[in-house]
Amino acid sequence: MRLSLAGACALVLACAMQAHAQRPVKVFISVDMEGIGGVVTAEQLGPTGFEYARFREFMTAEALAAIDGARQAGATQFVVADSHGNEQNLLIERFPADVTIIRGSPRPLGMMEGIDSTFAAAFFIGYHSATTNARGVRAHTISSATLAAIRINGRATAESGMNATIAGYFGVPVALISGDSDAVAEMKALVPSVEGAVVKRAISFHAAATMPPEASQALIRARARAAIERLREMQPFVVRAPIQLELTYKNYTPAEMMAYLPGVERIDSHTIRYTGRSIIDVSRFMGFAMGYRADLTP
Ligand SMILES: [Zn+2]
Repeated sequence: MRLSLAGACALVLACAMQAHAQRPVKVFISVDMEGIGGVVTAEQLGPTGFEYARFREFMTAEALAAIDGARQAGATQFVVADSHGNEQNLLIERFPADVTIIRGSPRPLGMMEGIDSTFAAAFFIGYHSATTNARGVRAHTISSATLAAIRINGRATAESGMNATIAGYFGVPVALISGDSDAVAEMKALVPSVEGAVVKRAISFHAAATMPPEASQALIRARARAAIERLREMQPFVVRAPIQLELTYKNYTPAEMMAYLPGVERIDSHTIRYTGRSIIDVSRFMGFAMGYRADLTP
């Protein structure tokens, strides 16, 4: 059979469209709050803050902007993990009916609960820099109250680095991060190909030069679209196992008691070391170390 050029093109296009229809492009979106445009203090970050109700709206709108942009570039399925504080911040009624939302805790993969190897990309929205960052807005790792540092295989690590490692374990690249200038710079240092949406310039722990919500949402929408368009260039961030986790506490007693557990070593006055077979072990260990109390109910 001979085809005209136009006929061949039509056939190729039809095949491509069919392949597209068959293979969903799934995007996993982990949403934190400190890196949402405008956030600078605890007043925006929890139910007792006078601006929290409005900033839940902005957090939700930035997540929706990421979905919107990704869809424009061909993404078809979305799982969104509400990953800040009580993990019940996102206004779920604002999301399209085909989106799945992960909320509540505890959960074994923490901020990455819901990801698996079927996803094409991971997005981090509203992220902040590591506890070891001297300037980032609300810079902390997991807990600003209790931890002074987290290291993975000897390297000081932000939540973004830890979560990129979880995505990498499943072979999923981090394609987009939004947050303040330092949060984006930390992720780019690990994953140079990542799309970054800087929605505010960090001035100090409690200060930033920020975009208004309309602009931050437009930027995230555009970067999300670019991230999916550039998916071929994105590589998963893979950390070779076993994975050594070091936690430096702000106090002595947690380090002392955690070292009672077999497999946990106290390496200095404030620091413990745990070695996991994979980042999944490390994530579960972190969940225990940060969340366990003997008076947990129910
Ligand atoms: Zn947070």
